[in-house]
Amino acid sequence: MDTQLRRKLGAKKRIVVKVGSSSLQHPETGKLNFLKVERLVRELCDLKNCGMDICLVSSGAIAVGRTFMGMEKRPHTIARKQACAAVGQARLMMTYQKMFAEYHQTAGQVLMTKNTMIDNVSRKNAQNTFEELFRLGVIPIVNENDTISTYEMQFGDNDTLSAIVASLVSADLLILLSDIDGLYTDDPRENPDAKLIHEVDIIDERYLFMAKESTGSDVGTGGMATKLAAAKIAMKSGADMIIANAQNMGILHQIFEGSFTGTLFHAHYDEDFYISDYIEETMV
Ligand code: GLU
Repeated sequence: MDTQLRRKLGAKKRIVVKVGSSSLQHPETGKLNFLKVERLVRELCDLKNCGMDICLVSSGAIAVGRTFMGMEKRPHTIARKQACAAVGQARLMMTYQKMFAEYHQTAGQVLMTKNTMIDNVSRKNAQNTFEELFRLGVIPIVNENDTISTYEMQFGDNDTLSAIVASLVSADLLILLSDIDGLYTDDPRENPDAKLIHEVDIIDERYLFMAKESTGSDVGTGGMATKLAAAKIAMKSGADMIIANAQNMGILHQIFEGSFTGTLFHAHYDEDFYISDYIEETMV
């Protein structure tokens, strides 16, 4: 076990954990995998009991909505996706509320759009709300406000959204739970010689080249490229970032024990980095 790593991760005070739709569903049916959701919730409650502020960024609104409505295929029109999200977000929260309550924790819902971050008043408001939720001991559960965010105003993927949230709440660690172990030198599904990269200090061209557009998942929207974009935001905001596999949610406590499989990106705080400017420059 790496003592230095354990000490570094053990000292974290505020963490944002992002989980993608594909990690919460049964691949055969698209329905929620309650055992996984339950394990995730239990892990998060335990981290909260260790004294950390916890924020969960959870996808799944569209996926949960469409299976509940009995749709066989993923919706393709924007209106249908938004309708699915309206049903699914509420059901997803119902599940989370119930499961967090079993461990005596309270979950609160925060839905965001790009406007929330660009508009100075809304951004400050969101920041105040998060601070108050942490002060009250509530675990915020964040998603994009899919029912109202039109194409032009979408974050589009929750990898980016979670990094933006990490920046907004000054988290010191962002964990992306995905369907892959971390960043590989090549796509491990196609190249058996692909090697997992354990630590990244600076994101240079080499890593951007390695990040392929897709994780192979048919459910979520984030690929490795969006994960690297998220890493850039997190690192400049002063948060370390970890990509790890959500297959076993127990990975969360393994991370804090300093012995886990995944990729750790080291923070390099940049005092000239402003998240609102970044969004305006790159995403609007
Ligand atoms: N916000 C979308 C949802 O909850 C998912 C976006 C993503 O998976 O990155 O369904």
